Amino acid sequence: MFNRLYRQFSNDIGIDLGTANTLVYLRGRGIVINEPSVVALNTKTNRVVAVGMEAKNMMGRTPSHIRIVRPLVEGVISDYEVTEEMLSYLINKANDADKKLFRPRVVIGIPVGITNVEMRAVYDAAKSAGAREVYIVEEPMAAAIGVQMPIHDPVGSMIIDIGGGTTDIAVIALSGIVRAKSLKIAGDRLTQDIISYMRDEFKMLIGEKTAEHIKITVGSALPDEIPEEISIKGRDLVTGLPREAIITDVDIREAMYASISQLVDAIREVLETTPPEVLADIMQKGMMLAGGGALIRNLPQLLESQLKVPVTIVDDPLTAVARGTGIILENVNLYKDVLVENTDDISFR
Ligand code: ADP
Ligand code: MG
Repeated sequence: MFNRLYRQFSNDIGIDLGTANTLVYLRGRGIVINEPSVVALNTKTNRVVAVGMEAKNMMGRTPSHIRIVRPLVEGVISDYEVTEEMLSYLINKANDADKKLFRPRVVIGIPVGITNVEMRAVYDAAKSAGAREVYIVEEPMAAAIGVQMPIHDPVGSMIIDIGGGTTDIAVIALSGIVRAKSLKIAGDRLTQDIISYMRDEFKMLIGEKTAEHIKITVGSALPDEIPEEISIKGRDLVTGLPREAIITDVDIREAMYASISQLVDAIREVLETTPPEVLADIMQKGMMLAGGGALIRNLPQLLESQLKVPVTIVDDPLTAVARGTGIILENVNLYKDVLVENTDDISFR
């Protein structure tokens, strides 16, 4: 009796703990939080001052006692305590969205190939942030579920999740990951490439926000019929004074070329080691792109021409993982086999 009452008053959440963005899916409600994975800390009190967009807006403008931290660097928890603080902030915020939420069950997506120690850190952070039970799923698996790929079938599917810190490449069949690779070349690297290019070729210093804006507005993997250009402001490295410059899509392709080639090579390596039957399925069905990096203009066309496999961008690529965690929450029994660990296994390891 008490149990049933308790269940009614508890609710469950799915968390996509991304390197760039963290999303929270509340059971029965959908995505209720979608914020940058950024935390502002007061270094005097060691307390969290702001999380998400509010913290991101403080970047570059903080007084000395406030430090801006991205708790996940390259897909790995760089700061355990901050991650825990962020998770507990998010769980509380989801709680505000639904007053009945109390010690929720939590499904969390993690990058493929993280170590047991790192996985344990995610698990512990969620537990101490107030989760009653913690289920862990690999992000590409969650993304595949989120976009309704037939993951349980004896047919191979391929998904490539290009996030901020990591690109996760996975071949899935029969509820399991057949082949996978995670590399630290993703959206953040492309943004850094643009900063370096501007410094080397234009002798100009630009900030991360500007570089990301350039990437999103004029960046592309292959030329378009209509050329793109943008006027940007930065600091002239010679005079130290502000300066404006016109940047074109050709510049940005050149800036991103090396990293995008590495991405293509990594996908090729996964294809080369995929068993032939599964490869045949992928050749027929194509590969799916998810994550913010899937939106790089003409990336599908580039991949198709280099790899000779059809490529499709999933619907709403930035929310695929979060939607997947939501689907898992709502059908835990159906998806038990795709979870990496459950509470009992992990706590006795
Ligand atoms: P993560 O899962 O690591 O948090 P996301 O899937 O949220 O990452 O993707 C964030 C990355 O996607 C960032 O590097 C961002 O710059 C990039 N991104 C977002 N939109 C676009 C776009 N339209 N074109 C290119 N890159 C984009
Ligand atoms: Mg992600």
